[in-house]
Amino acid sequence: MEADVMFQLKNIQKFFPIRTGLFSRVTAHVRAVDKVSLTIRRGETMGLVGESGCGKSTLGRTMLHLLSPTSGESLYKNRDVFSLSTQELRKLRRELQFIFQDPYSSLNPRLNVSEIVGEALSVHGLAHGRERDERVKEILSVCGLAPQHAKRYPHEFSGGQRQRIGIARTLVLNPEFVVADEPIASLDVSIQAQIVNLMEEHKDQFGLTYLFISHDLSMVKYISDHVAVMYLGKIAELSSTAALYKDPQHPYTIALMSAIPSIDVDAQKKRIVLQGDVPSPSHPPSGCYFHPRCPYTMERCRIEEPKLRDIGGGHLAACHLVQQGGGRL
Ligand code: SF4
Repeated sequence: MEADVMFQLKNIQKFFPIRTGLFSRVTAHVRAVDKVSLTIRRGETMGLVGESGCGKSTLGRTMLHLLSPTSGESLYKNRDVFSLSTQELRKLRRELQFIFQDPYSSLNPRLNVSEIVGEALSVHGLAHGRERDERVKEILSVCGLAPQHAKRYPHEFSGGQRQRIGIARTLVLNPEFVVADEPIASLDVSIQAQIVNLMEEHKDQFGLTYLFISHDLSMVKYISDHVAVMYLGKIAELSSTAALYKDPQHPYTIALMSAIPSIDVDAQKKRIVLQGDVPSPSHPPSGCYFHPRCPYTMERCRIEEPKLRDIGGGHLAACHLVQQGGGRL
C-alpha cells in the first residue's frame, strides 16, 4: 500500500438476510454493498453520491466495522479493520469517527452538551474533570458554539447548532478519518453551506481525511477531491471531482448531473429523466445493474456485467459503451 493511502477497500460486500416463514428461514439477501473497491488518500475528501438506498451509508458504516461485512477487506493504514479484535477496534475508534445525518436523534436528549462532547474523552481515558471541561469548551469554540452552550441540552438548539455539537463530539477525539453520512441533509438550505464550510476549515486545521456521503451533487462537488458514484450497491464511476463534473462518462452519472439545478436555462432543458424505479437490491437485474433504466442499453448489457475500468488518467467507469479516453462507442 502506498504511503499516502489511508483507506483501501477491497471487494467489500454487505448483504442483509431476508427471513420469511414460521422458522424465519433466510430466503434471500439484500445486496446493499456488492464488491466495492475504493482507495482514499490521506488529506483528501472522497465524495460518495447516489440515490437514496444505493448502499452509500451502508458502505460508510461497514468500512469502519460499525456493521459486520459479508466479505472483503477494509485496510486502514495497512491494517484490516475487519480482522481486529474488539479491544483493538475500540482503540482505533478514536481515530475513525462518524458524523450522523440526523443531528437530533444522534444526540442523547438526557445529556447536556458538555456531557455529550466530553463522554468520548472519558471513555477513551483521554481527559477527566477540569481538563475535560476545558477541552470541551475549546472544541465548542472551534465549532462556532459559545462556552455557555456547554450546560444546555440538545432540544434547546436549532438543527444547525445540533450538527455543530455532533461535529464537536467527533473532533474532540482528534480523529484522522471521518465518515460524514449526509451531514447536511436534514438542515435548512441556509445552514447547509455553513456546516460544509466548517467541515472544510476543520479538514485543514486538524489534518482530516473525509468520506463525504451525500445525494446532493452540488455540495459534493464543492467539498470533494474525488467522487465515487454508487448505483445499486456498486460503484458506477470514480474520478477526480474536476474530471467527473466536466465530463461524466457513465449514463447514470450523466443523468444525475443533468438534474443539478442550474441558472442556465438551456442546461435545464437537457435534463435526463430516468425511467422506472431503482430495482430491488434483493433481486438485482442481470448484467449491468443499470440496464433496465439506461437509455443506451444493448443486448450485451443484459448479459455481461461491465467492469469498473480505468478509461484514462485515473477516471474509472463501469459501462460497456464508454471507450478508452472517454466518450461512448
Ligand atoms: Fe447502459 Fe449498458 Fe453502459 Fe450499463 S453497460 S450503463 S446498460 S450502456
